[in-house]
Amino acid sequence: MSIDGTYEPTNIFARIIRGEAPCARIFEDDATLAFMDAFPQSDGHCLVVHKKSVARNLLDVDEADLHAIVSTAQKIARALHRALKPDGVRIAQFNGASAGQTVFHLHVHIIPVYADRPLTAHASGGPSDLDKLNAFASRIAAAIP
Ligand code: AMP
Repeated sequence: MSIDGTYEPTNIFARIIRGEAPCARIFEDDATLAFMDAFPQSDGHCLVVHKKSVARNLLDVDEADLHAIVSTAQKIARALHRALKPDGVRIAQFNGASAGQTVFHLHVHIIPVYADRPLTAHASGGPSDLDKLNAFASRIAAAIP
């Protein structure tokens, strides 16, 4: 049993993967999807999910599915770094509500850090509008080789 119980297929990331909810899509392959976080901690905050795995968190996930997520996360982090030129890139991942997880479909955060701007705290920022998110998504996507 995972930290907070069983996988719930109505979670927002499952709905995004099924096309039932909008997202600012950056990249997709057979296994994974990368899109912009709608409540970003900084400009360019991205998320990577597995499209088929029903893991809630890192403890649940099959190794091959985890490898696919990490591979895409590296691709997106490199592209984000090329496109947005942050001073640093933070990779984050939360397991269980007590650890700060709010969406229970395994995902990796890729958060650009700019030396002159503090990050908004995790799960405390306001929503960004879809046009702005799509503009960041296009810039990052264009920097994927
Ligand atoms: P966590 O707290 O690690 O589970 O992260 C969940 C992330 O999903 C947070 O950073 C939220 O801002 C983000 N989020 C929530 N709803 C959406 C959505 N509809 N589209 C994109 N990102 C979302």
